[in-house]
Formats: sequence, C-alpha cells, structure tokens
Amino acid sequence: MQIDLVCSRCHTRYSWYDPVWQCRCGGLLEVDYQPQIDIDKIGSETQGIWRFRSAIPVPEKVDYLSLGEGFTPLLKLELWGREIYVKQDHLFPTGSYKDRGSAVMITRIKEIGIKQVVEDSSGNAGASVAAYCAAAGIEAKIVVPSTTSKHKVDQIGIYGAEIDRSTSCRSDAEKKAISLSRESYYASHVRDPFFIQGVKTFAFEIWEQLGMRSPDMLILPVGNGTLLLGAYLGFSELYQSGLISKIPRFIGVQASNCAPLVNAYKKKGAQEHETVIKPTIAEGIAIAQPLRNTQILKVISETEGDLITVSETEIKATHHYLVKMGFSVEPTSAVAIAGLKKYSNSIDPAELIVTSFTGHGLKAI
Ligand SMILES: *Cc1c(COP(=O)(O)O)cnc(C)c1O
Ligand SMILES: [Zn+2]
Repeated sequence: MQIDLVCSRCHTRYSWYDPVWQCRCGGLLEVDYQPQIDIDKIGSETQGIWRFRSAIPVPEKVDYLSLGEGFTPLLKLELWGREIYVKQDHLFPTGSYKDRGSAVMITRIKEIGIKQVVEDSSGNAGASVAAYCAAAGIEAKIVVPSTTSKHKVDQIGIYGAEIDRSTSCRSDAEKKAISLSRESYYASHVRDPFFIQGVKTFAFEIWEQLGMRSPDMLILPVGNGTLLLGAYLGFSELYQSGLISKIPRFIGVQASNCAPLVNAYKKKGAQEHETVIKPTIAEGIAIAQPLRNTQILKVISETEGDLITVSETEIKATHHYLVKMGFSVEPTSAVAIAGLKKYSNSIDPAELIVTSFTGHGLKAI
C-alpha cells in the first residue's frame, strides 16, 4: 500500500515516516492511500481491530501495537420498546473506544522513532494514549483540565504518564499541549489523522457482525467528532469497496449544555456565533469549539442525518435506566441512548439502528 500524508489546506505532501502531526502551514493532514477492503484479507490469525490490517494505512512491515483492542460484542437490546444494536465499546483495554484510535496512532509514532508525546484530553483519550505509550515505551504527558474527574486522572497516572492539571478548561488544555509539543510530539486524538484511521474499524466490525451489511442509522454522541468521523470513514470505505449499497444516516447527539454543533447546524448559513457553554455530566463530549466542525456537519448533511440535543435531566435519567439494566457505562454513554428516545418519533420502526456504549462506568463510580 502506497501511503502518504497530504495537507488539506495547501496540499503539501509528506511521507508516512515524516514526524509531522500537522502541515507546516498549520493545516490538518490527511492520509492519502487507496482504500480497498478485500474480504479475503480480513485476518483469521490476527485479533481485534488488526484483523482489518490490510485496510489500515500502516506499512506491512511495521509491527503493530496491540493490547487486544477491538471486536467488541454487538448486542441486540430492547431500549424504550425498540430493538437496537449496541456496540459495547466500553469493554476496551482502557474502558473506551479511544483505544481503536490510539492503537493505530501510537503504532506509527513508535515506528517513526518518537520517544516523548503530549496529549490533551478530558480523560478518556488521555488514559488511552497513556496506556499505549506505556506499551510502546514512550513517555507521555497528558494535559487535563482541572475539572476532570479524579477517577480519570488516576487512571492516566496508573500508566506512568505525567499529568498536567494547570489549566482550567478544555480549550486552555489544548493550547497548553500545543505549546508543550514544541519540545516533544503532539499525539492528538483530534488532529493526528491516524487516530480516525483506527476508529474506522468501529464500522468494519459492525458491518461484519450484522452479516456483512450496513445499518440504516447510527446514533452517536458527538464532541470533537472522532467517533462519528471514524465511523463515517469506515462505512465510506465499505461503500467504495462495493461491500455495502448505502452509507447509514448519522444522527449526532450533544448535551444541550454544550451544543456548538447543533447550534451551527440549526443556523445553517448564518454567521458563526458564540455558543453559551455550561457544565455537563457528559464530560467526554464537553467540547466548546470542535476543530473538525465543518467535516462533522458535512457528514450529517451528506447522509441526510440530524443533530439533536438532550438535557442534563434526560442524560441522568437514561444513565440510571441503563445501570438498572445492568450496564456499567459512564454518563457520556447515556447521551446517544437519551437521544434515541427523544428522536424515536422520527424513526421508521423497520430501520436497523446501531449505537454504542462508548465509555465504562468504572470511570465514573
Ligand atoms: C471521546 C468520547 C466520546 C466522543 O467524543 P468525540 O469528542 O466526539 O470524539 C463519547 N463518549 C465517550 C465516553 C468518550 O470518551
Ligand atoms: Zn499545508
């Protein structure tokens, strides 16, 4: 597989081995390769996400990093009186789907010889990057806003990562990480294009588990959109490879206390405006200014999807409902399920719907 990196703004090209996470011009990089999913190449000896290694842009000779991530169960459940499939991505090595992305991103970072990285996170991406760095023998510094819950900070520390809690909000943590990255390397789950390349296995696994077909609809929580964009990339590649006849529609759900994407979506064409942000228990998606907002809105419109909000009361009630069913998920994971309840009048009963439990409840006990 020929793999390059190309700037989405000025089209400068880089090799897979160049130690770059963004272009010299500041533009986001994209991985340039020929996506082709070949059913015969889906591994039977490899496990988890690496069964799809032939569709992941990592050169064949590279030893990939694995903590056994992926191939989580796709459980059929009855929620709010409707049948729905739930991808159990809270059952990952570090308790969130972020491990899909970290496994691929840190595989490359290790291979190109980086010894030190910095990442900013509200918790789960930080824990995931810290774990894979521990496995790779890379030093990690994780910048978390001081509001991050104690359990998540402790989890990051367990892996031996250094923790910086000097910033008070998520966007200051990001600025701090970028300034620290001058002396190390920015392993950003939002900017590094290899992260989403790992997350796309979410789509491949769902396709396989549904008997090689696509769902009609995906309903997912959205903050920075790494899950939504990764899932979209995966289904697009399945579509381009002729393995599905349509891409599902994407319904994104945000907490009403932090819903910049929903606001932008509703004010189509209107001037960008400041969104009022309040704290939310859905801390995993509390992102005031999503960097990839244009890409997210494009997925929603191209798939004829929708963006909706749920209130704190709805998130709490849904979290309670899930826990009472025996599922240990963190409150952020209740967002999409609460959205499903709210949105159910707009769904055809025959539609095949998939959602995900994104983060483990032990992170928020
Ligand atoms: C990261 C995360 C999400 C989705 O977040 P994005 O910012 O959209 O990538 C959802 N749930 C949990 C638990 C998460 O950790
Ligand atoms: Zn550029």
